[in-house]
Amino acid sequence: MKRWRAANPERFRAQQKADRQKNWMVILVAYGAVCACCGEDRRHFLTLDHVNGDGYVARRSGQGGTGERAALAARLRRGLVDDRYQLLCYNCNCARAFAGYCHGEPPGGGPLPPLLLSEVK
Ligand SMILES: [Zn+2]
Ligand SMILES: [Zn+2]
Repeated sequence: MKRWRAANPERFRAQQKADRQKNWMVILVAYGAVCACCGEDRRHFLTLDHVNGDGYVARRSGQGGTGERAALAARLRRGLVDDRYQLLCYNCNCARAFAGYCHGEPPGGGPLPPLLLSEVK
């Protein structure tokens, strides 16, 4: 396997890319292919989110990113459900990461105060 890989670097990379895409499709289908927050269904906007916001734990244990997705896709293929994950579009994902909430109300309720240029200068 290793020798084949060394002798066919192009094919190895192409294979890896195809596998990643297939894994991603399995995940998309399993989670309904829509953003769990806003319902965005253009699949190139969607990203995998850790429901409990514990992504960094998985990454630090070396299981983040591609390996984590491959492992999740393998579980989903076996018919297992993993509700520690959900699909979010990039907007919702970023809003949650930076502001701590998304299309719902801000913590404490009510509209956000207006952003004034005079306050940021
Ligand atoms: Zn969204
Ligand atoms: Zn949202």
